[in-house]
Amino acid sequence: MIIVMQKGADQKDIDHIIKKVEEYGYRAHLSKGVERVIIGAIGDEKDKTKIENLINRPGVEKIVPILKNYKLASRDFHPDDSVFDVNGLKVGGNNFIVIAGPCSVESREQILESAAVVKEAGAVMLRGGAFKPRTSPYSFQGLEELGLKLLAEARERFGMPIVTEIMNPRDIELVAQYADILQVGTRNVQNFALLKELGRTKKPILLKRGMMSTIEEWLMSAEYIMSEGNQRVILCERGIRTFETASRNTMDISAIPILKDKTHLPVIVDPSHAVGHWKYVIPLARAAVAAGADGIMIEVHPSPENALSDGIQSLKPGRFAQLMEELPPYIKAAGKIMVTL
Ligand code: PEP
Ligand code: MN
Repeated sequence: MIIVMQKGADQKDIDHIIKKVEEYGYRAHLSKGVERVIIGAIGDEKDKTKIENLINRPGVEKIVPILKNYKLASRDFHPDDSVFDVNGLKVGGNNFIVIAGPCSVESREQILESAAVVKEAGAVMLRGGAFKPRTSPYSFQGLEELGLKLLAEARERFGMPIVTEIMNPRDIELVAQYADILQVGTRNVQNFALLKELGRTKKPILLKRGMMSTIEEWLMSAEYIMSEGNQRVILCERGIRTFETASRNTMDISAIPILKDKTHLPVIVDPSHAVGHWKYVIPLARAAVAAGADGIMIEVHPSPENALSDGIQSLKPGRFAQLMEELPPYIKAAGKIMVTL
């Protein structure tokens, strides 16, 4: 249920409603819009009459059910775009962010060089996997803690927040010590135990789309994180499985405007994993911007032919620089501002 307070409602009336909502066994979530405050009463809606009766309290304008299965992630509950801070950089709203870096952290030289080239071209965050979810158990699995340390070194040196994948709830404490954003990969998007644990951390979460997830299922995954208290979730479209085999996955461009309608969360796009070949990454990145994405995440490797994972889809530094030169008119046309370091 959402309780919409009157314009300029008194703080004491707002506090009173929150107290009542909690007394009735619901979780109260406050959303402060430009004009008014909305209080979400999150919990089992079977016994909602008590909440409905709050309509008689001072300061309450209306009480409406949230008909969708996701509540906190829904735009009904939070009409304005969510904008939040990651190490001083704004994510969401009209801010456009570029995250770039290799698929995996492979060595000190490789990650430092990657950081240098992507920063030089204008990326604001560095990506790189230390724990890799590989299809084969015999493929390179990542440098694990050493990889995290190398990412942290790159952050110190280049001043870029780092984004890295978390696969196992038991590694959260370790990964959170180093990372600025914790990434949930496509294969873990319905690992509810992991999502719940991540909901209890203070780090922003980059939630990839499951390769088989509908938009609704994906938003339910976001809801798992948010319902545990962590509201800083960034959605990342990375392609879904379709009958098409010419591309690794199919980048669902329609997901961007649909998500923008249904949720207030920032939406970014990873064309690298979506299409699976470096040749097609640049046009798809432009398309993502034009469709209204709040950012892109691009795989870049100093020498893709030697990459230990996803070399085929990784841009060489020069091509990434070309992409970054091409983007500004698209970003401007989409009404966004490129976030810079
Ligand atoms: C990645 O970002 O390197 C990755 C493994 O992505 P996904 O989970 O989308 O396949
Ligand atoms: Mn990859």
